[in-house]
This record gives sequence, structure tokens and C-alpha cells, in this order.
Amino acid sequence: MSVDPIRRAPKVCSEDCIYCMLGSSGFLATKRSSLVSTEEVVEDLSELASIHRGLPIRFFGTGETTLASNLGEMIEAARASGVGSTAVLTNSTLMERSEVREDLERADVIIAKVDASDERSFQRINRPHCDVSFSRMVRGLRYMRSNYKGSLRLQIMLMKENESQAEGLAQLCSDLSPDLIYLSTPTRPCHATPLTYRSLQEISRRFHRQGLNVTYEGRGDRET
Ligand code: SF4
Repeated sequence: MSVDPIRRAPKVCSEDCIYCMLGSSGFLATKRSSLVSTEEVVEDLSELASIHRGLPIRFFGTGETTLASNLGEMIEAARASGVGSTAVLTNSTLMERSEVREDLERADVIIAKVDASDERSFQRINRPHCDVSFSRMVRGLRYMRSNYKGSLRLQIMLMKENESQAEGLAQLCSDLSPDLIYLSTPTRPCHATPLTYRSLQEISRRFHRQGLNVTYEGRGDRET
């Protein structure tokens, strides 16, 4: 079950990824604000808990989850409502901020996106807000890894446009030592060229050889 802490159309995000299933229209932002009231989310969660008690909840939706300044409150509300474990999908760009990490740390699972291993490729694939940089994103991920007690997972969208970064991405993942890595490739029409199942499988083997715990989706559908 999922909860969208943004609920905006077009999307509100700190990136405009070339493969985004929400399209390329939307607002690039890095300033956090309360886009949906916590009360509204509490109502939805209570309803969900009454029908699906114990089912895991994922926070993701129409933009970058950590742009919701009340994300931490929402996660606490989910815990109190009687639903199951909580997971947050994030594009990792705001993780350098301590208040963002404090919010994320309340979740049982963090699924953090990384699609590039250097600044140039990051700009080309993820087209971030001008306040965001690859080095700051990686620094945020390192801080998170060293303090977070839950399950930190990485999500990598692979496509022709970043296939050559596979080695660098595996190196970056080794450095960050996530609990699990999800590899996927775009499945919906977008400005990126998907990889074949075989290519995904081959890259997955390379990650395995580095001792990384990795799983891949032949027809991937995870996005933040
Ligand atoms: S981070 Fe997620 S929502 Fe934002 S542009 Fe990229 S794919 Fe779309």
C-alpha cells in the first residue's frame, strides 16, 4: 500500500529524470513544505489500517517524498495507525540536510535512488535542480549509511544512457554498503532507451561479483 506525501499534478521534484513516468512537466524544487496535511494522511492511514492491518506502507508518489516537510510526522502517524512496516522511496538529493535524515530515520526501510556515478552523468540522466549536486547527494547517502539503523536499500534505473556507468555504480554501491540493491530499467515510453533483460542480468552479475546483495526486475517498475 502506498501513501503519496506530495499529491501534486504536475509533479514537484528536485529532479527531472529522463525516464520519469510522471512526464517532464512539473516543478523543480528543493524547498521543503507541507504539501498535504498530516491530518489528511492520518485519515487515509486509519482507513487502510482498518481494512489491511499489518500491511507494509510505502511513501512515494508524485515527486520527491522528502520535499514534504511533514514526512516525519506522516511516518509516525503510520506507525501509530496499526499498519505494518514503513518504507520511504527517495531520490537521495536532499539527504545531506540533517532534518531530512531525521525524518527518514523514522522509517523501517529507505529506498534511495542513485542512477549515476559522476556529476556529468547525474546532470544528463537526472537533470536536477541547480541547488543539487552529485557530490552533495553522495555525501548525504554516506551520512545516512553511517547513522541509520534500519534497512538502507539503493535503487538504480539502468538504461542505454547510463549503461557505461555500471562499473562506477557498482563501485559506489560497494562504498555505500546498502542492505540491498534493486536494478531496473524503464518500461514505459520515455526519453530513455531501456536495457534488455540479458543486459540487466549481466550487470547484476557484475554487482554480485563485488559481493553486493542485488536483485533486478526484468521489466522494472520502481520509481521514486
Ligand atoms: S526522482 Fe522520481 S519523481 Fe522525480 S523526476 Fe526522477 S523519477 Fe520522476
